[in-house]
Amino acid sequence: MRTHARAVVIGGGVGGCAVLYWLTKLGWDDIVLVERADLTSGSTFHSAGLVGQLRGSLSLTRMMMSSVELYRTLESEVGLETGWREVGSLRLASSPERMEELARQAGWAQTFGLPLELVSADEAQRLFPPMSTDGVLGAAYLPTDGYIDPSQLTFALAAGARRGGAEIATQTRVTAISLDGGCVQAVETDKGTIETDVVINAGGIFAAEIGRLAGVNVPVVPMAHEYLVTRPAGVPLDVPTMRDPSLLVYFRGESGGLVMGGYERHPAPWALDGVPSDFNGRLLEEDWPRFEELMTNALVRVPSLAEMEVVRLINGPEAFTPDGEFIIGPTDVRGFWVAAGFCAHGLAGAGGMGKLVAEWIVEGVPSLDVWEMDSRRFGGHYRSREYTLARTLEIYSTYYDVKYPGHERTAGRPLRLSPAYPRLQELGAAFGEKSGWERANWFEPNAPRGDEPLRPRGWAGRLWSPAIGAEHVACREAAALFDETSFAKIEISGEGAAPFVESLCANRVARDVGAITYTQMLNERGGIECDFTVTRLADDLFRIVTGTAFGRHDLAWIRSHAPEDGSVTVEDVTSKYACLGIWGPQAREIVDCARSRSDLSRAWHCASRTSASSAGSCTARWSSACGSGTSSGTPGASTVSWPGVTRLSTLCGSRRDIASGGATSRRKRRRPKPVCRSR
Ligand SMILES: Cc1cc2nc3c(=O)[nH]c(=O)nc-3n(C[C@H](O)[C@H](O)[C@H](O)COP(=O)(O)OP(=O)(O)OC[C@H]3O[C@@H](n4cnc5c(N)ncnc54)[C@H](O)[C@@H]3O)c2cc1C
Repeated sequence: MRTHARAVVIGGGVGGCAVLYWLTKLGWDDIVLVERADLTSGSTFHSAGLVGQLRGSLSLTRMMMSSVELYRTLESEVGLETGWREVGSLRLASSPERMEELARQAGWAQTFGLPLELVSADEAQRLFPPMSTDGVLGAAYLPTDGYIDPSQLTFALAAGARRGGAEIATQTRVTAISLDGGCVQAVETDKGTIETDVVINAGGIFAAEIGRLAGVNVPVVPMAHEYLVTRPAGVPLDVPTMRDPSLLVYFRGESGGLVMGGYERHPAPWALDGVPSDFNGRLLEEDWPRFEELMTNALVRVPSLAEMEVVRLINGPEAFTPDGEFIIGPTDVRGFWVAAGFCAHGLAGAGGMGKLVAEWIVEGVPSLDVWEMDSRRFGGHYRSREYTLARTLEIYSTYYDVKYPGHERTAGRPLRLSPAYPRLQELGAAFGEKSGWERANWFEPNAPRGDEPLRPRGWAGRLWSPAIGAEHVACREAAALFDETSFAKIEISGEGAAPFVESLCANRVARDVGAITYTQMLNERGGIECDFTVTRLADDLFRIVTGTAFGRHDLAWIRSHAPEDGSVTVEDVTSKYACLGIWGPQAREIVDCARSRSDLSRAWHCASRTSASSAGSCTARWSSACGSGTSSGTPGASTVSWPGVTRLSTLCGSRRDIASGGATSRRKRRRPKPVCRSR
């Protein structure tokens, strides 16, 4: 085995082999994959192999499409069978909501060239004869989906990588990862040390334990996933795969019989205290009681399943994540990458995922926007096992549910609370959650003052309130108070701080002490990595305020570029400071009044009395900081002190201007009715 490599991939499942394959494709040949047992001996060997392409976003779908492109050609490229069967897929709709979901998907899929078409229930049955059409309103048919043999695919990827110069060391267990100054130095294995700058953790259900070797939290939860296999029973060999989300089940053909699995409502996490060190090439015990719900549902859709002989119930662990998306990309530790947490889509995603990760490593940026899968989207609160587990269970058990715009998850809440939370509760806030923070989306008591006829038609109107419009008008015409505590805050200090932030930011930020600058940080291609405000608090101290969800990402980006000579310290100070912002034409007056009074609500009254453009009365609203606000230097925007809030004027970040655009600006605006909510 090599003692030095340009990159070391840990894990010989489909994920690790795909990354290895694509690294060689991009010209890296001095690389090695280490696998503690044999290739495919993790989750890969027991996969059902379904490959579906349509996902919830353009990037995710393109990634899956890229997998299919590879699976079509890999066999002829490396000369090994992959078992790719492009039989198409059906997704059934058994309710008007599902039908609407399919119609939306069909329209959306066409925009990027996915040949998804809507078919009738009878047509679906023609394609998949064993199914019953009872209750089926229609289906989506995607002819380019299919299934693949998991082990053959993995061996083909490995063969392609070997051909490109990569080495694969099986029966080689990683025992430690050496770091120096927050950077990867070497991988220690039971067969010796490999010095390297780049490590890719493709450990599947073991990714959390491998992450810990480098001090990186990888929030994957092993979940037991089951499917059954029947004996041949006259099912046509080329039936498409079929999903019936309302019944929580999926099917595919298997040598004239069927494979059937699904996502049960009461899932089973497994090995939460650590995966046994000898768990390779093994399955879990059959769990028929847990599978009963799926079996009952499956019989509704495919009654003849009752007559088929079950060969086996496969029960295998798979790495799920708290939001149901992959975990890929760089981490806080320089040179340590993750490619894991494939949530029962590892076969479908491996081809495209491997390409994205390899591009990211070799070229510095992936060719798609992969924020939804970026390992840095998970904040520090995902170090809580209870929270991570709660979120993951919710994701698994609601996997097939229809998700409407504005959908909020409920598990593990509330977690992170601002000092204003009790007051927001008192005011009837409808809370949303971002990065663990509870934030007011709107205040339902304001709904009667809104415009019900403006409710968006269809999906977008389900999780919506007329209060949103009423609060918008109030902010636009008077003032609104925003709790922005959830915004992430990062401090950069030290003698090297000024040249360091100057070198990373697109704008000039090392200006006078007290200056606030809105800026981006750009990657090598000029793409935007970070978007925030930088405040110079002292000659050697800068405070960054960035979006609630971007704290970990921005922190990792900044740290990964920080000088190693100790001249700069980068610290996450999000939880140290609360933050309030007042926006609207009366904001400045309110703050002026507040300067001479200790009570902000009195200042609010004072401002509305003295203002020539007063809305006629006190119109104060609490609202969320989400995507709102204007730059601190913009007329009409101001920040105020509040008990427990320090130096607020330096904290407020800037985002889109809430006063521009929106429904109220396009229609005749109404005067906000006086609603004094801040007493
Ligand atoms: C029952 C079931 C059905 C599924 N059906 C589908 C499906 O229909 N379609 C689909 O797309 N996906 C499906 N999946 C998911 C798919 O199988 C996985 O997403 C995929 O196989 C995960 O691959 P991986 O490379 O991340 O992990 P693994 O295959 O688990 O590979 C990780 C490897 O890392 C190695 N390793 C761990 N620790 C170390 C160490 N310290 N040193 C060296 N090596 C180490 C392990 O030995 C293991 O081989 C299913 C999963 C299950 C369980």
